[in-house]
Amino acid sequence: MKFSTSIAVALLLLFVAPAQAESEVERYRSESSNELAQARDIFQSLEKLAEEKTVESVLVPLNELEVVLGKTASRASLFYNVHPSQEIRDIAENQQKEITKLGSEINLSRPLYEVCKAVDVAEADPQTKRYLEHTLRDFRRSGVNQPEDVRNKIKLLNDELTVLGQELSLNTRKDVRSITLTSTNDLAGLPEDYIAAHLPDENGKITITTDYPDYLPFNRYAENDEKRLELYKEFKNRAYPRNGEVLKQILIKRYELANLIGYKNYAEYVTETKMVETAATVREFIDKVSAIARPRADAEYAVLLKRLQQIDPKAAEVGDWQKTYLQELVRKELFEVDAKKIRSYFQFGKVRDGIFDLTTALYGVTFRPWDTEVWHEDVQAYELVDGDKVIGRFYLDLHPRENKYKHAAHFDLQAGLAEKQLPVSALICNFPGKDDESALMEHSQVETFLHEFGHLLHHLFSGNQKWIRFSGIATELDFIEAPSQMLEEWVWNAETLKMLAINAEGEPIPSEMVESMVAAKEFGTGLFVTHQMFYAATSISIYDRDPTDLDLSKTMNGLQDKYSLFKHVPGTHMYANFGHLYGYSAMYCTYMWSQVIAKDLFSRFEEAGMLDRETATDYRNKILAAGGSKDAADLVEDFLGRPYSFEPFANWLKSDVEQHGGKRP
Ligand SMILES: [Zn+2]
Repeated sequence: MKFSTSIAVALLLLFVAPAQAESEVERYRSESSNELAQARDIFQSLEKLAEEKTVESVLVPLNELEVVLGKTASRASLFYNVHPSQEIRDIAENQQKEITKLGSEINLSRPLYEVCKAVDVAEADPQTKRYLEHTLRDFRRSGVNQPEDVRNKIKLLNDELTVLGQELSLNTRKDVRSITLTSTNDLAGLPEDYIAAHLPDENGKITITTDYPDYLPFNRYAENDEKRLELYKEFKNRAYPRNGEVLKQILIKRYELANLIGYKNYAEYVTETKMVETAATVREFIDKVSAIARPRADAEYAVLLKRLQQIDPKAAEVGDWQKTYLQELVRKELFEVDAKKIRSYFQFGKVRDGIFDLTTALYGVTFRPWDTEVWHEDVQAYELVDGDKVIGRFYLDLHPRENKYKHAAHFDLQAGLAEKQLPVSALICNFPGKDDESALMEHSQVETFLHEFGHLLHHLFSGNQKWIRFSGIATELDFIEAPSQMLEEWVWNAETLKMLAINAEGEPIPSEMVESMVAAKEFGTGLFVTHQMFYAATSISIYDRDPTDLDLSKTMNGLQDKYSLFKHVPGTHMYANFGHLYGYSAMYCTYMWSQVIAKDLFSRFEEAGMLDRETATDYRNKILAAGGSKDAADLVEDFLGRPYSFEPFANWLKSDVEQHGGKRP
């Protein structure tokens, strides 16, 4: 077959390396260009395919194309974010651009679309049918079946949107604002290290900027209400007014794009391939969640107001700039949470080993070192073993260093394919413990670790698919967080947390301490959820209409007053710096939606026990291992034995102090 010859040639190129040892840089450079050439080769052979269009002649090579592109894209993304060599990061950056270019050529290739459309899958297995169906759907959604002039317009709009999106985030990043304090007294309430890092200059002035390391602690701890408000206003006005116009342009162009492809508006377009399916479902969801959360939010609001009145007896309402500060006070005073004591139970090495042990307890799988090349000496490599079979491999790159990605994330490096290739993952985080494994972590970092590890397990367990498109975390965007969100429950339960929370004396964390932590965490949930629904309502409301006459200020302020208990603060323009309105577009509800699914999935563990092997095995088989082989709603139904339900989430939102054993007021 024409196509396999081209693969053979490309493979040959990969292995005919010079006899002398190449440097890592040169090797990566040549592998990258070979992979691109290989992908382009397969693509072009498919476009010109003259023989009969069958699963073997079209879908098998198409799958191979996705394998090659996926692998090179994953590695480029990882290296760009973490590799210590500047040269390799540069190659990776360029590789990402080349892949995007080739990707959009493929998505808009009419000849390739026609070739795929001609494949007859009437006799094929259900997975193959699903593969073709999703492929054609995505082609159609990129606009490939439109006439040429429309396709050209689509391409232009996509290019313009990329530029506008970059401008939007750059404007926010560049617009660092600040306030000036004239006395160290204005720093009262803040931690000592913060005060030490903000000493007065030669004129006795202290500058506090809107950058996160400055803003977040000030917003949480500063006793000076007036200054907290002043900084809040600056923060909520970053990139205003410039981004007002940029966001408006984005809305207009996305609306136009959706119309060209055949949708009423952009919200209809993005929701189509999600679990929510329609914009109307999103709206219903927002109103339903808001209504359930409201009583709890009202009760919590009353507690905050009472606390505020102890400071200012005349206070009649709690401002948006006061909520985090007051919440912190209430948590400390009512729930007696001593962060320092809690930390003493989280030694990095024990947490990592505990997460492995927890995985073994749940799924019976084990871990062993994987002897392989790594990109930095801090990186550890492991194999995931099931019985006596290796089923996946992964890297842990868990400590900060220069030029490394600053957040925590799971990177997939290779999706698994039944009998062909094993899945490979990497966890990239920034935890303490680089030189000393007994270094202490925050509980929130432990939660993050387990959350990201949940993505890793999802990726590795699902590596046994026939089609690469369904392998890995290849499921709907509003479902992908659910498994990891569910796993977070294991660090809020005394029994399971004890597996990884052991202090220097070898004592596990006391159950009462976990109970106070849970109570403190739960306080403010109603307020959080209602405020999130304000964001979600904004996101859907600016995308499910013709935006030509849309007044961003009026729309967003109105929705804040409707959904959140904290009113809009006059003179602020949050839409100018709320990047998710671009990134998530109409789907900001994603986070809460997957939380609903997570609570529903968890209900079976709650009933059977959090370490129940049978439930865990069933969960692994029906949810994790299934990858994207079915719609998420069907996977959930397979596991629960019924369609997904809102009930467990609603019950949790309505739940009160008795259920959590805390001291909720
Ligand atoms: Zn996540």
